[in-house]
Amino acid sequence: MKKLAFIGMILFLGCAQPKSQAHLGSNQEAQAVPMFNADSAYIYTATQVAFGPRVPKTTAHQACGDYFVRTMSRLGAKVIQQNATVQTYDKQSIPLRNIVASFHPDKTKRVLLCAHWDSRPFADHDANPQNQHQAIDGANDGAGACGILLEIARQISLQTPEVGVDIIFFDAEDWGHPEFDTRHYDNSGFCLGSKYWANQPHTPNYQAQYGILLDMASARGARFYKERLSMYYANHIVKKVWETAQTLGYGDYFIDQTGIGCEDDHAPINQIRKIPCIDIIQNDPNSPTGFASSEAEKQRPSQEQGFPQEKVPTVISSTQRRM
Ligand SMILES: [Zn+2]
Repeated sequence: MKKLAFIGMILFLGCAQPKSQAHLGSNQEAQAVPMFNADSAYIYTATQVAFGPRVPKTTAHQACGDYFVRTMSRLGAKVIQQNATVQTYDKQSIPLRNIVASFHPDKTKRVLLCAHWDSRPFADHDANPQNQHQAIDGANDGAGACGILLEIARQISLQTPEVGVDIIFFDAEDWGHPEFDTRHYDNSGFCLGSKYWANQPHTPNYQAQYGILLDMASARGARFYKERLSMYYANHIVKKVWETAQTLGYGDYFIDQTGIGCEDDHAPINQIRKIPCIDIIQNDPNSPTGFASSEAEKQRPSQEQGFPQEKVPTVISSTQRRM
């Protein structure tokens, strides 16, 4: 994820939204939603972190990818893997492994949920320069969001939703240009997996009603502001999700204010695949980026204090019931 520099432009354009969806109500009744087991999500998260940093080309990355495929298959999803070779910002060739898990692929009405599963190879925002060339453990930035999706998948396996759900674990989101590398200034190295998928989806002409991306959604005390790129491309979904959160009493977590803009995996989904997709990300201007080993440690999801992001899946499932 890269913070965007053209925030002013997005702010100016941010009011664009389809007219037909601009009047979605805010006072619908709260409805029963599927369970979400915080301990289970925590274990899914801890299991990923235990492999080590999931940096492409490493054995930890291979093992964690196998874990996703095994787990999603066991939960009844149809799993499709996309394997390719892509180029990093500094022209290194790396293997790419996107993992798509589809529940009820026969259903035409579909919802897309996604997160990136790779770990950033550089802790380039770490206060200690000696740590900056090390990979982050990606507890919050990567594993936490995937842990939420794994638990949602488990719940889907227990209670079939009305819509078909595609869960995509994108690879190579976080191998973008590190700030210590002064030789290269190309920011195109982020979101390699989602760009690949958006151009070559797992099924031809894939479409979904809408998409929700989770990134850095797991930290202790996380607060979610409305991300600006989401507001530009999919404001009707932003509005619906944040209204749902308010209705559920989670207004202290889903803050009804505009945050920063992020070049994240939702960008190619909106821009190339043309699916309205929002990013639920801890993105207030004072939050850490996740690009630091020590920050990642501090932000590690907390089992003792309850898994705060259980509010995230509850809001997602409640939103779907209000669509
Ligand atoms: Zn991330």
